[in-house]
Amino acid sequence: MQLDNLYQEVILDHYKNPQHKKLSTDFDAQVHHINPSCGDEITLNVKLNGQIVESVTWDGVGCSISQASVSILTDLLIGKTLNQAETISNSFMHLMQSKGTEKGDENLLEDAVALAGVSQYPARIKCALLGWMAFKDASVQALSKQN
Ligand code: ZN
Repeated sequence: MQLDNLYQEVILDHYKNPQHKKLSTDFDAQVHHINPSCGDEITLNVKLNGQIVESVTWDGVGCSISQASVSILTDLLIGKTLNQAETISNSFMHLMQSKGTEKGDENLLEDAVALAGVSQYPARIKCALLGWMAFKDASVQALSKQN
């Protein structure tokens, strides 16, 4: 694995200074997802306000890719509508499946494009997707609680 490409400054910055890494007590849904192949774990809380992602908070342990990816996700998705969040999530998942052939849409994915290099390493893709799968799961659960 080419660490130079993977562990870019933006990833390390999110790993060292994770965003929204403090579980809020006010949430609509809480999920716990693990990635056994690497030992990554996260607990993620989502609160919706209608169709708006009002808050995403989390706690977790694991490799820098998994933890940085969740941190990046919170910066990207908080304040977005569920439709926008889905568009962004789908774009990120597509990027992770690109086997290193795509750079990602920086206008849409912002800091998440720093993870593009991960798509060349199949064993690490689950690390990068852990938080995104957790968000998808939690947002579906949160939505199902609305009338
Ligand atoms: Zn990992």
